[in-house]
Amino acid sequence: MTYTLSEIAAMLGVAAPDAPERHISVLLTDSRSLTNPSETLFFALRTPQNDGHRFVEGLYKSGVRAFVVDKELNGDILSKMSEAVIFTVGNTLDSLQKLASMHRRRFKKPVVGITGSRGKTIVKEWLGYVMMPQLNVVRSPRSFNSQIGVPLSLWNLDNECQVAVFEAGISKFGEMGTLQEIICPQIGIFTNIGDEHDAGFDSIEQKCREKMLLFQECEDLVYCADNTLISGIAVDSVEKGVIKSWTINGNSSAWLQLSVEHLQPGETTIRYEYEGVCRSVTIKYTRKEDIENACHVLAASLVLGIEHDIIARRMSTLPQIDTRLSVIEGVNSCMIITDVGPVADSVWMSTSLDFMCRRKTPDVTLTVILVNPEIVIDSNLKKILVRRGVSRLIITGDRPSEPVCGDGFPELKVEQYVSLQQMLAEVSQSDFDHELILIESSDSLCAESVLEMLEARRHETVLEVNLDALVGNFNLMRSLVKPTTGVVAMVKAGGYGAGSYELAKTLQAQGASYLAVAVADEGVELRNRGITMPIMVLNPKVTNYRTLFRYGLEPEIYSFDILDQIICQAERQGMNGFPIHIKIDSGMHRLGFLLEDMPRLVSTLQKHKAVSPCSVFSHLAAADCPDMDSYTALQFDYFDSCCKQLQAGFGHHIMRHILNSVGIARFPDHQFDMVRLGICLYGISPLELPQLAGLKPVSTLRTVIISIKTWNDGTTIGYGRRGVVAKESRIATLPIGYADGLNRHLGCGRGAVFINGCRCPIVGSICMDVCMVDVTGCECEVGDAVEIFGRNITADEVAGLLDTIPYEVLTSVSQRVKRVYYRE
Ligand SMILES: *Cc1c(COP(=O)(O)O)cnc(C)c1O
Repeated sequence: MTYTLSEIAAMLGVAAPDAPERHISVLLTDSRSLTNPSETLFFALRTPQNDGHRFVEGLYKSGVRAFVVDKELNGDILSKMSEAVIFTVGNTLDSLQKLASMHRRRFKKPVVGITGSRGKTIVKEWLGYVMMPQLNVVRSPRSFNSQIGVPLSLWNLDNECQVAVFEAGISKFGEMGTLQEIICPQIGIFTNIGDEHDAGFDSIEQKCREKMLLFQECEDLVYCADNTLISGIAVDSVEKGVIKSWTINGNSSAWLQLSVEHLQPGETTIRYEYEGVCRSVTIKYTRKEDIENACHVLAASLVLGIEHDIIARRMSTLPQIDTRLSVIEGVNSCMIITDVGPVADSVWMSTSLDFMCRRKTPDVTLTVILVNPEIVIDSNLKKILVRRGVSRLIITGDRPSEPVCGDGFPELKVEQYVSLQQMLAEVSQSDFDHELILIESSDSLCAESVLEMLEARRHETVLEVNLDALVGNFNLMRSLVKPTTGVVAMVKAGGYGAGSYELAKTLQAQGASYLAVAVADEGVELRNRGITMPIMVLNPKVTNYRTLFRYGLEPEIYSFDILDQIICQAERQGMNGFPIHIKIDSGMHRLGFLLEDMPRLVSTLQKHKAVSPCSVFSHLAAADCPDMDSYTALQFDYFDSCCKQLQAGFGHHIMRHILNSVGIARFPDHQFDMVRLGICLYGISPLELPQLAGLKPVSTLRTVIISIKTWNDGTTIGYGRRGVVAKESRIATLPIGYADGLNRHLGCGRGAVFINGCRCPIVGSICMDVCMVDVTGCECEVGDAVEIFGRNITADEVAGLLDTIPYEVLTSVSQRVKRVYYRE
């Protein structure tokens, strides 16, 4: 939607700006999603982890001119933003919500609101899919259902929209009222209610009542009458609403009587009687939760007056919905993102394009492949693609729309094929080079076949890296330090095995102060791929100072030897004040200067201005050993004395840092200017502490079953016949061995893997590339996923079996294992 700034000022109740009028079409809360700066209004939101006010100055530099803030901006920044229009309000989130709700009031067409514990996104997308060929439908992008996501979703309502479908999600008591005011649905769908314990609520009943508030002004409410809790609360809380419940258990009070049959394998037929006529729809799903979601979609479609023929036809092809986006290495230095979504229209694609743009590096171009798109490729979509920097668009499928051309968009090269088969026949791997490719498809099999062509290696063993977990862990740890304390993110050893570039990119965007790598080469690779934030190098080698200067990599200096060398090189290269980091040995007794070295260190540094001490730091030897806290206290004292002597020699402030992950949790009084976050960033806590309970593992090592056989008792398995089955057993073979990083000491029953909810012990010796596991009693088949370590079998547990620490388990996954990055 587009408003002028004066109109927005009026809606927010603030004074109109005395600046040239400006049209605003984009509301932005996350600075990384910037697409169209001149038409953007940025809301500086404050969350427990982050403060949007920090990004105002950067956004101004990127061309944004309109801001909503709730605290005074610093005068320095203001003086650099002479063209900015700044609305100062009491609370930026309230204002965002107010603006959305005022916008909503102008819209008279039906709005469907969906809430419940599970299935919200699927029901929303399926309902959109059923209506889409006939009606112009606006939906929430993906699962934008929070206090921030809902107002942003509402903004997509425009005059062309004929029906809107939004989802609302809450995590604690008292949140639904706000979402109700914004969405104000006339038609409601309550998907279901989970009985899991929920920290934000006193009881399930309270949770159910809170969710029901979304429907307080609904005219029609769809829910399953077989759910007694929802039924009971619905009947006495929806005031003016008409209840449109459905049943598959013959509940006589329900509005719609359904019966479910499985006539063909893999299909479900739902029969119903409506307006005196018996009808049926058949869906390609059989799981209980899919049937429940489909019944909601059927009931809501009837409420919306969709014709039966359309409902039956569209429901027979309901697409799979996977809101996860993953990135995989492709051929010829390409990276591939696959997105399986229902109808890839501009709203759905806004999030996948956003995901793609955040991964863009200077050495790749952007390509989008639309497999059998459901929508017309019009100039509006092309404009959106061009704005995001997409330069190549490949379309397959024979929609009866005229051929798509790049007309009016010379930047966009369009290639079109009448079918997926034709594309696969005519296009080959060599047609792609240094591209970041987004595959959009409503059918996971079609997406797979394109992916298969483009994928670099099809090795069944992968290390999955959950970037959302990384962000969550980073923010959890940041919430333990003062807002003014910087966080150095340790991405040494290839990001503790998870791959440093993707992590660095994510952490740069999260506002980490520094990255720390082990060796200069790791830093060079990050710079070459476009990482611009400060990088510290922990082990600079004697020979590569020039590389450090050239790439702006700041070394750790731990002896007079290397101090003299870097000074000599820096002077020769004409450097002035190149930042270095002084390492103090306060008790680890590994590397670093001692207290008695301080006078010489200070005088050397004072004499040579080619380098300049930027920070001084030390490392704790026993931060995770509470019984040695008195030793740690001595380290703090020693460090303090060194810092004082060093600082006294210089006019500028030298930053100090000593805490590692566990130190952050245990010694908040010693945060100083920065902390160095390592293992906890990866979701692993070497010590059980309540403040670290929310950490989530980032890495999961996965493989698949490639063979299963049943053997009689007495059969031996593997090398040296070391595995012996004691009774008739099913033995599965997995394509992972010690060369992938599965430690051989985990063989012969010591370690186990996780398959479909069961722990399956490793049988016999682990081979170089394969191993065998006992799956007797575990329901599984060839092709099923296997977790080696991750959420169910933690790296900590594996470390325990091997008598080592989780650090070693994480960093042992070999380079030949493909890293796959995803967000939930
Ligand atoms: C690896 C490392 C850290 C991080 O330690 P964690 O225990 O993983 O948090 C901090 N400082 C230095 C100097 C390190 O080498």
